[in-house]
Amino acid sequence: MLSSIACSKGTSSAPPENAKALAPEPVAAPASPPDPGPLPQIDSKRTFQYIKEIVAFGTRPMGSENHKKLENYITSHLKGDQVEDDAFTADTVEGKFPVRNIIAKYPGTKDGIIVILGHYDTNYPLRNIGFVGANDGGSSTAILLEYANHLRGKKRDGYSVWLVWSDGEEAVRQWSETDSLYGTRHLAEKWEKDGTLKKIKALFVMDMIGDADLNIERETNAPAWLSDLVYQAAERGGVQSHFYARSAAIEDDHLPFVKRGVPSIDIIDLDYGYSNVFHHTAQDTIDKLSPRSLEIVGNTTLEAIRMLDRR
Ligand SMILES: [Zn+2]
Repeated sequence: MLSSIACSKGTSSAPPENAKALAPEPVAAPASPPDPGPLPQIDSKRTFQYIKEIVAFGTRPMGSENHKKLENYITSHLKGDQVEDDAFTADTVEGKFPVRNIIAKYPGTKDGIIVILGHYDTNYPLRNIGFVGANDGGSSTAILLEYANHLRGKKRDGYSVWLVWSDGEEAVRQWSETDSLYGTRHLAEKWEKDGTLKKIKALFVMDMIGDADLNIERETNAPAWLSDLVYQAAERGGVQSHFYARSAAIEDDHLPFVKRGVPSIDIIDLDYGYSNVFHHTAQDTIDKLSPRSLEIVGNTTLEAIRMLDRR
């Protein structure tokens, strides 16, 4: 299929051969006690404005000047927060690239970590066609900045939350196991060695979540209990009709963590325009996106985290 050639995130109707052995056994989510508190609310207008500003840098593949500008843009929004880098050089079929995952940590009272991760690089092969990645790269970068606004300034009554702006998600030539996910493959290995992975209660990947016509996939590499928990969070906000109309196994930034047994979910809408026609094209522009979609994904994810805190 043409779409699978043009697509960085390979999809298939069946899970990868090894997914079954690697994925944790599905466990039924216990019913969460009712929470009388109001649902979390992100500022979707501000998030949308972030995307406009990010897109204005132009195309942002790893190693580029615009990428560097975006790195500075991200860190300038995290002043006063606990920020760490996971920086290294990736050796690729197109040469060596500097790769930088940016990590912001917000402490909680409970022992354990919830990670929310989204890539900020844009597609390298499309760098010369004016590809700006409003949805693919832009929406994930922006919603993480908005989560930071939400988390900053107070100790969470729950798990610590770490936000990761991942780099080098995109292939430099053609998507494969070795040409993709440069940042997260490095980070997962590092966190395996230093013991961080054992502390992660759940990992959420945000990718392409701004499409005005929002349809979040049920991504089949995620454990059932975590997919169900996200759906329950969506139900609490009355937005479940935007979730799980379709199921697909998707190769994305969660995979290096899935392979190491971390409960991980990819929150992604990989039907961007009819038959995914805008994905990885110059048409991935802000006019296709909607603040309402950012709000649906943003509030649902924050609610899912609140539910995890209480499990
Ligand atoms: Zn992409």
